[in-house]
Amino acid sequence: MRLDERKEIALKGVGASAGVAIGRAYLVDRSRVKVIYQYLLDENKIEEEVDRFRQAVDRAEEQLRQIKEEIPEEIKDHAGIIDAHRLILRDRLIFDSTIDLVRSEQINAEWALKKNVEKAQDAFARIKDEYLRSRVKDVEDVSERILRNLTGKKTESLLEFSEPVIIVSHDLSPADTTQMRLDKVLGFATDMGGKTSHTAIIAQSLGIPAVVGLERITHDFQSGDVLILDGNNGEVIINPDAQTIADFTERKSRYENFRAEIARYSHLPAETLDGQAVTIQANIELMEELDSALDSGAEGIGLFRTEFLYLSQKGLPDEQTLFENFREVARRFAPAPVTIRTLDIGGDKFSSQLDLADEMNPALGLRAIRFCLKELDIFKRQLRAILRASSYGRLKIMFPMISDLDEVRQAKAVLEEVREGLKREGVIVAANIPIGIMIEIPSAVALADHLAKEVDFFSIGTNDLIQYSLAIDRVNEHVAHMYQPLHPAILRLVHQTIKAGHQAGIPVAMCGEMAGDPLYIPVLLGLGLNELSMNPVTVARVKQVIRLISWEESRRMVQEVLTLKTTDQVNRFVRLKMSRGFPELFGPNGKMLY
Ligand code: PEP
Ligand code: MG
Repeated sequence: MRLDERKEIALKGVGASAGVAIGRAYLVDRSRVKVIYQYLLDENKIEEEVDRFRQAVDRAEEQLRQIKEEIPEEIKDHAGIIDAHRLILRDRLIFDSTIDLVRSEQINAEWALKKNVEKAQDAFARIKDEYLRSRVKDVEDVSERILRNLTGKKTESLLEFSEPVIIVSHDLSPADTTQMRLDKVLGFATDMGGKTSHTAIIAQSLGIPAVVGLERITHDFQSGDVLILDGNNGEVIINPDAQTIADFTERKSRYENFRAEIARYSHLPAETLDGQAVTIQANIELMEELDSALDSGAEGIGLFRTEFLYLSQKGLPDEQTLFENFREVARRFAPAPVTIRTLDIGGDKFSSQLDLADEMNPALGLRAIRFCLKELDIFKRQLRAILRASSYGRLKIMFPMISDLDEVRQAKAVLEEVREGLKREGVIVAANIPIGIMIEIPSAVALADHLAKEVDFFSIGTNDLIQYSLAIDRVNEHVAHMYQPLHPAILRLVHQTIKAGHQAGIPVAMCGEMAGDPLYIPVLLGLGLNELSMNPVTVARVKQVIRLISWEESRRMVQEVLTLKTTDQVNRFVRLKMSRGFPELFGPNGKMLY
């Protein structure tokens, strides 16, 4: 049923990135053309069909020309891919072969194209060179564009809007999000997704308000509707009336004032009332975030999610490009440390450049270190780039998704091999680069005492630790409410990891989203963490809370928290403490006032 256009509709989702946006909304359809019908043509319709195909290709060519023209200056270097796509459009494999099939088999153009793409996929799959093999994705992208033209489905570029809009979509990939520009996108709302999806994380980094997990927003609104989106509370209002617009405009300016106000904590030390210093670092995904990470007052980078260097461009980055990026991060943060996490591709972060098989459960599939240990060339290329950059600052290396000792040992052995190779070439590599691992799989917690003897540091990735131990897909909106950092099992796992690390004499940090939520700070300090890494936008806020609490009191509070048996009990206990202790920051339900 379509909703009355003038009726105001309030929807509740998951606030994925803070901020309030008010504006016209635009539907971006990111679903692939899934169903392709086959039909036979009458003899006299064949040439008509060939013409229809030619026109779809002409239109695709024109679309690509326009996209190329509109690519912003700063990413013009990547325009080459558009030219490549234009060439593929007219390639014999796509163009002539499809026309031939329409004529010889008397079938519709969609079906003929699909058959040719399948042939191309088979041929590409047999290519040995991994890079060339991955280029099949270009053929698929091009054929998708032609198919959309044939079936009348539109493909929007997120750079195409003439005025700033709120994007509404069933889902957006992290790669889509990296394309967004603040002057074109006021915010976005999606049916799918959870708070710790990478799409949400990127939106926070770019400062784009977002609400995800709305389940039905793509059904409930029409393109052009006015929308209000409040990323602080996960609220979306479709067709707001004048009073609602006025209320949210007020909310928006209150939030903006709050941000300006809180910024003054950025450069104050993160130290508790009783003098315990806490190291606050930033998580980054894109090179564009370096300035905001430096301005945020973070003391270094606790997590550089390098996979976004692979997702935000077409084609795999070469060693020199990776090296230049790592060198820049190292230099700009020196003498503060920068923790470079090796490629964590897979899960909800996929690249059209990498041939990640269509997996039923990508989060449990060939992701992160598993992928790297299989695709050794890609892994070694990245490690070479990191080691070459290591003499320009203080780099640390961190391996993601470690599940046991063998994986760490294998990863370290590859690193050593790469280091030896560079030495032989006479390349200077820093001595004593700390090597750490993410603790984000329950088996790694169980083995934390053994793992601690293999590495120089741990960093707890709560986003995945919660996903894997509570068995909730972090991008699935239906279970988003079950993402509960204060679940007693999670607290135990975090506690066990910290104890094992400290017993072995290595530092333990946390870099999952839990580390950047002010509500959890006393619990985290009380559990013994004194290194937290978070999205740069939350650094000032977290420092504000740290400066208000006592380390000793936090430790006492955690003793009590660890005796509680249910999530509800822990939540109530912690929220009550925070709202009583800091009424200026937390409302009666323990919710951050901003
Ligand atoms: C985590 O899992 O908590 C983490 C920090 O890594 P990512 O979010 O990139 O998976
Ligand atoms: Mg993770």
